[in-house]
Amino acid sequence: MSARIGVGGIFIECNHFTSHLADRSAFERSEWLAGETLLAKDTGVIGGMLSVLRDAGYEPVPLFYASACPSGAVAAEVYDELKSELLLRLANAGELDGVLLCLHGAGAAVNTPDLEGDLAGAVRERVGERVPIIGTLDLHAHVTSELLTQTDALLAWETYPHVDAFETGERGARAMIEILSGRLKPVMAIAKVPVLVSAIHGQTDPPGPFADVMQEAKRQEGKGAIYSVNPILVHPYLNMPNMGGGTLVVANDDEVGAVSLAKRLAKRYWENRAALQPATYSPVEAVRLGLQLEGAPVLLVETADCCGGGATGDSVHALRALLAEAPEQTAIVPVVDPGAAREAHSAGLGEQVRLRLGHQLDSKWGEPVEVEGVVAKLSDGAFIYRGGIWDGRAGNMGPTAVIALGPVQIVVSSNATYDWMTEQFDLLGLKPADCKFVVAKNPMNYHQAYAGVMKGAFVLDTPGPTPANTNALAYTGMNGEWFPANPDMVVDDPQVAVSRQRFC
Ligand SMILES: [Zn+2]
Repeated sequence: MSARIGVGGIFIECNHFTSHLADRSAFERSEWLAGETLLAKDTGVIGGMLSVLRDAGYEPVPLFYASACPSGAVAAEVYDELKSELLLRLANAGELDGVLLCLHGAGAAVNTPDLEGDLAGAVRERVGERVPIIGTLDLHAHVTSELLTQTDALLAWETYPHVDAFETGERGARAMIEILSGRLKPVMAIAKVPVLVSAIHGQTDPPGPFADVMQEAKRQEGKGAIYSVNPILVHPYLNMPNMGGGTLVVANDDEVGAVSLAKRLAKRYWENRAALQPATYSPVEAVRLGLQLEGAPVLLVETADCCGGGATGDSVHALRALLAEAPEQTAIVPVVDPGAAREAHSAGLGEQVRLRLGHQLDSKWGEPVEVEGVVAKLSDGAFIYRGGIWDGRAGNMGPTAVIALGPVQIVVSSNATYDWMTEQFDLLGLKPADCKFVVAKNPMNYHQAYAGVMKGAFVLDTPGPTPANTNALAYTGMNGEWFPANPDMVVDDPQVAVSRQRFC
């Protein structure tokens, strides 16, 4: 009889610095999968897992899988429901030979700060110590000792911008096959250094400070007992103890080797810390500098309001600077504001509207701006992602309007959505490449969305829960010091945690 592998998980990246929680609808809008709908997934991590299991003649057993766009923490009752869904299906799944979980690693629920550790622990309690549990993670994970203890192998994405979700699912399933065939007796070590930096210089294509660690990591895989090596750039917008970047190593029955390599690479990460810190500009300064550049588009990177990092997307700091400094220039500015979107829809196409826009979802980061413009476009906001980790998945901005203030076009949507390429703008027939200014609310993906066309990009220093410089945030959960809060601190020895070895 073929081996039966349970497949499921909960995938969300959470932000402790916004008060806007992930509710049930955030998951319903994205993915809420069980039974046949889970088995039908042919993209993303789950798709990769299923494909390898089937090719190997294993039987994938659908548990439950839910994902949502990054946001604040998951509401307590929502996490409880998601967890019970998964555990219920696990209880009804019959005897399993292994469990594959698709996780992010930076999930947090209001009642359970370490979402993944808690979930893996609950699964472990049900399946016991003899069944391997393997998790896949985003490389922006906060890997806790609890998660490390409850799982047998953790494999993280190796690309940023993220393009290897499917491949990571395949790697997870292959590791499962190796364990079940007795060839892999996994032991994990993670070494961390207290570096809390944004993802702005965290690209994995060289050159770059994180790419440097990634390249060295990949050179070590397959040498001796080293099975997998994953550099981790921790999602810095959690407020938890022991956060840091470093390296996660899975070795074959060699704890000493795993610890030694994880430490060596974490030290390399530490040495690269200064290069991970980005330079920033005030919005006014950035617009003025942009006006001096020839051609278009110039990117105003309002990374502090990144929906892909859990922000609400409702900042108007960049918009305010554009309206003050360059109202005659073509520009596209996205702002999430469900109330304003509703007003625009009820006014109707071609009508003049006066709106109080922005900072209504997460009001602590700024004041709304008063704008008067014409409703130039209306849409239901539904689109499909093309490429990347969300390839083929539905995106949903909800009721959306384009408000034109002369040449400045404001995309007013109802829901925060992850930025990959320019799917949101494409849906509305906007041509960002032809505009003088485009406001991008992400720290990395704008590079690929405007590759070859952008004439300049300025990372803005604005208030928000996902800032370029983490010194803008009041961490209360961290124990000890960290870089860059203390730029002169010394770290001699990375902090190391080791997993439990179950298959000796
Ligand atoms: Zn990520």
